[in-house]
Amino acid sequence: MSFDAVIVGAGILGSSVAYFASENGLKVAVIEKEKEPGVHSTYRNTGVVHRPFYLNPDRRKASAFAAARSYPFLKMFVKEKGLYWNQLGTLEVSTDDQGAGVIRNYERWARENGMEESEYLILDEKEISAIEPSVKGKLAFLSKTDAVVNFKQISEKMMELSEGRGARVFYGCRTVSVYPDGEIVYSCDGSEKKISGRSVIVVAGGETFNLAVTNGLKGYAQLHFRGDYWKLSEEKGKFFRRNIYTVPRFPNFPFLDPHIIKRHTGGTEIGPNAFLVPGPYDYEGTFSKILKNVLGSGEGPFPIKAKLFTDVEFMKLVFADWRISLFKSSMIKKVSEFATGITSGDAIGRGISGIRHNIIDKNGFLSEPFFYIKGRVLFVLNYNSPGATGSPWYASVILTILSKRGILNANYKNLVISDESETFSVKVLE
Ligand SMILES: Cc1cc2nc3c(=O)[nH]c(=O)nc-3n(C[C@H](O)[C@H](O)[C@H](O)COP(=O)(O)OP(=O)(O)OC[C@H]3O[C@@H](n4cnc5c(N)ncnc54)[C@H](O)[C@@H]3O)c2cc1C
Repeated sequence: MSFDAVIVGAGILGSSVAYFASENGLKVAVIEKEKEPGVHSTYRNTGVVHRPFYLNPDRRKASAFAAARSYPFLKMFVKEKGLYWNQLGTLEVSTDDQGAGVIRNYERWARENGMEESEYLILDEKEISAIEPSVKGKLAFLSKTDAVVNFKQISEKMMELSEGRGARVFYGCRTVSVYPDGEIVYSCDGSEKKISGRSVIVVAGGETFNLAVTNGLKGYAQLHFRGDYWKLSEEKGKFFRRNIYTVPRFPNFPFLDPHIIKRHTGGTEIGPNAFLVPGPYDYEGTFSKILKNVLGSGEGPFPIKAKLFTDVEFMKLVFADWRISLFKSSMIKKVSEFATGITSGDAIGRGISGIRHNIIDKNGFLSEPFFYIKGRVLFVLNYNSPGATGSPWYASVILTILSKRGILNANYKNLVISDESETFSVKVLE
């Protein structure tokens, strides 16, 4: 069997690639190891369609483009298909002077990243408590257009539409190997099969790294950080009207601090933290052997991770977030820095944890997703938040780059990208 594009993984990114490729008449196949789309990070995330105010355009240009360009597409798509969309907004608060400086930067970044002035406000202490009486802060950024969605639902709809246009989807089939000439070996019900593509797009979440390494990627390692959530009681949840974030404590690391979030289910939760776990699917357990957990974590050569593990700031984050996973009281203490009146008794059970797959090199964390291309195969690595939001743009960039390199031959319409120059914001390794 031969296809124009074989996609490995049907999360929100794989589904987006399948959607745009099939819309443009390409012969598409998707190989997904689970029985349905979007069951990993796509389902296990916070569910916010982020506006790009918090993305420094000097350091995170691609993510800023991705969030800005994908927003109108996602809004139109969910409305047209009757899917969940709740545009309740996000309030990001600072509790100290340093954080207040960051909030002021957000105003500039929002403008530079294309947000309309009518979409946001800067609020002082009094104005914060006027709109959110249970929140305290010195200064805050109110983004009125952030929305809550169900990314799994969006992924399912994109896959359904792609199948309707002729895409072949192999659920319950695991990709075992990919080769630069476009051949793929995958396994279904214990038997191995082969398929080939003029292009292969590997968007397999935490498994992409190992598939890239077997295709020659060098100089990187991967770590996994679990985000745990706690559910707030219905009564306490009503105290908060929108998503409440704070300026991140550890700005050198790619994690947001635990926040208060509104779910598409109608519930309110607090989380996520960033708890280092050994593997891509360690959704449960708090691992009493923390040192073994740290040293044996992730994939790739230990010397690349060594510098990070001797960084005092990083180890502070590891231990602080380990405590947050282990003790409900630590999570409550964290959010009590900006939310009043929440006690341990208000956290009534654990939510659904999700795992980020972060790539590091000898200098530490990479801040943006990047592509690795080997022959006809494109791997997407370090695809973290706001990755679910940015999937339509990243899918468009992937197809454009494959076409520019002559791997695919297509004249695309309806891609979510303003012009080809935007593709240069994504780092491509070969
Ligand atoms: C805790 C948390 C909170 C987040 N919050 C937000 C948010 O609010 N907003 C936002 O925009 N982003 C958020 N993100 C980021 C976002 O969820 C991810 O960037 C996005 O879901 C990644 O999508 P994906 O398709 O690359 O990966 P996934 O959803 O993980 O999909 C990968 C797919 O590949 C499949 N697969 C893996 N290996 C194989 C194989 N060998 N063969 C076949 N199939 C395979 C998997 O089964 C899976 O279905 C959050 C992430 C986390 C973890």
